[in-house]
Amino acid sequence: MLSIVYRRIEKMRRIASGDLYQTYDLGDLRITSLRDGYVDMPIGRLRQRGKPFGDELPQQVALVAGQLRLSVNAFAIDDGNGIILIDTGASNAWHPTMGRLPEALDEAGIDAGRVRTVCFTHTHLDHIHGLVLADGRDAFPRLARLLVPGEELAFFRAEARLERFHGMAEPFEAGDRIGTHVDIVDAHGHEAGHSCFCVSSGGERVLIWGDTVHVPSLQFDRPEVTWEFDADQDQARESRLRLLALAADEHCFVAGAHLDSPGIGRVVRSGASFQFEPL
Ligand SMILES: [Zn+2]
Repeated sequence: MLSIVYRRIEKMRRIASGDLYQTYDLGDLRITSLRDGYVDMPIGRLRQRGKPFGDELPQQVALVAGQLRLSVNAFAIDDGNGIILIDTGASNAWHPTMGRLPEALDEAGIDAGRVRTVCFTHTHLDHIHGLVLADGRDAFPRLARLLVPGEELAFFRAEARLERFHGMAEPFEAGDRIGTHVDIVDAHGHEAGHSCFCVSSGGERVLIWGDTVHVPSLQFDRPEVTWEFDADQDQARESRLRLLALAADEHCFVAGAHLDSPGIGRVVRSGASFQFEPL
């Protein structure tokens, strides 16, 4: 049994890396983590039993100049024919510490013209605005499909900066399949339609889980801790617990939008909680 687990673990391997990207093999696919940048947030965004943390924040939580630093990552799935991109970063729509996705693609040697499908885990700023470059041009000139959680289609269509994509947006729901390797998994709570993308190939799986965890130094150990911007705090907590258990018990790698770049690794159980082991 142990040897089976070992063999599985070895199957997602890093094959190339740079400052803004890391590429891994997963069966017949290549999965690339792309670093859009980071955003600093006050510690009070973390919630326990509905209240913000203050001085009692556990020492294990990594701070940069007194703030929580969240990495902002997107993930490319390459099957050799084209690329499905999960999330797109913030472009110039939020803080200037983000918007490096085009540089990350360049560094990874990925031609933006090979991105044919873009899927959003949800419609918050740091995930959707990378469709449009800072200079106003389309980031992905040969984009053919744009998939948005059905529950959030109206949120997406309210973003004036992305107006030329409003008509193209196609709703999806949990249980849908994209192409032959990607299944959509319900992860509602952080936002009304927040979703994960389970990517499978060669008997291996990685769950690209969006904003399931915002602060990795705390929320694996204490998955009950929520985030101010979780639209439904209780549902977000339930989804996180379910997805952590799934990743740990079914040996499914995870890839997180706000896990420290590159944000890919495995989840293991640790007593009643969990630990993240980066890959
Ligand atoms: Zn986010």
